[in-house]
Amino acid sequence: MNVLFGSSLPKAYEAKKGAWTVMWGSHGKWGSLLLGVLVGQSQGAELVKSKDGSGVVGYKDTPVMPWCGFHVHDPDRPLPPTVTPAKEAFEGAQAPSDAIVLFDGKDLDQWERSSWKLVDGAMEATAGDLASKEAFGSCQLHLEFRVPDPPVGRQMNRGNSGVFFMSLYELQIFDSYTEKIYPDGQCAAVYGETPPSANACRKPGKWQTYDVVFEAPVFEKVELRTPAYITVIHNGILVQHHTEIHGPCAYRTIAPYKTHAEKMPLSLQAHGNPVQFRNIWIRGLD
Ligand code: MG
Repeated sequence: MNVLFGSSLPKAYEAKKGAWTVMWGSHGKWGSLLLGVLVGQSQGAELVKSKDGSGVVGYKDTPVMPWCGFHVHDPDRPLPPTVTPAKEAFEGAQAPSDAIVLFDGKDLDQWERSSWKLVDGAMEATAGDLASKEAFGSCQLHLEFRVPDPPVGRQMNRGNSGVFFMSLYELQIFDSYTEKIYPDGQCAAVYGETPPSANACRKPGKWQTYDVVFEAPVFEKVELRTPAYITVIHNGILVQHHTEIHGPCAYRTIAPYKTHAEKMPLSLQAHGNPVQFRNIWIRGLD
């Protein structure tokens, strides 16, 4: 689940395209053109390149995040250094005795009904996010994923998926081996908030691992008492270390916390890419 259009550019394009289409069908040619320009201006969403010539694109017409001083999806935010992971680091980690195995390659029984496919022992994203039947709060998660090879989708949507803790807080999945996207949208970012401290991506088509400790936010009546925190090891490399999550992850905006249940489903994002998953297990920490 995403606020607004989701965690990549194409959905915004599609929304804009949709507005054009509607207008084109209900107005004359020139009236549609004028309205289209006005809508385009009001929506902003102007992609710009970073000042350093690195080729990163992002936005400067988005809110400034008070905790870091950068715009949401700022192309001028420093890219984290690339670190090459060890071969097969953390791959195939077996579930401990108290873990709930969410996917072992055999079936999708732990997940709500969806159109996601079982392909050669992996779950493959199709349309619509995939939500676990069971709800979780704070947890330890092991998950393996791979982005398509060759890359599928338009440049800014390559390998896009994500792990949504409590169906609200996204640990981004993206083909950051191939593509440069704004740092708070690259692989292992807390989407729209905090880039990873290293780019630990493997090549598309290679299995990758996430080992995560997620600490759920705590609410007192309608007030936030403690924010969520996340620690992420990507392919054996620590890339988020007790990173504060500043609210539900959103596209081009800052979304404030809103009181929610202590436990909510884990969900995996479908974003137009056949990203695959395997070996998913979770330990509740409540
Ligand atoms: Mg995503």
